[in-house]
Amino acid sequence: MHETSLIQFTLDAVAREARTHGIKHVSDILLIVGELKGALPDQMEYAFRILTAHGGEDGMFAETKLDIEYRPALLRCRDCGHNYPVTVESLASAVCPHCGSSAYQIISGNELLIDSFRGE
Ligand SMILES: [Zn+2]
Repeated sequence: MHETSLIQFTLDAVAREARTHGIKHVSDILLIVGELKGALPDQMEYAFRILTAHGGEDGMFAETKLDIEYRPALLRCRDCGHNYPVTVESLASAVCPHCGSSAYQIISGNELLIDSFRGE
């Protein structure tokens, strides 16, 4: 499952970072996930519950709360510079509503960022 690997990646990165700061128990994680990652919120929560069911490695995630902020996807037209929103489903056929060009760059929506975490 796609969401499981996103959560596993997150937990690995947080665990690594926490250890370098001497943190043994992580209480909160704020994750930012772009819409183009195609992650389903229910599946993200489910994956998080499963992967932290036994507290994770060393019990670091025994009482961790995960907050996820979903970022909408935004494209910028390469021809006229207009910004416009897009969904995962329409990305492949996206055209600029201003000039009709299909050349774009992704401005946001493709991110998987650990915004912050807390613990002691
Ligand atoms: Zn355009």
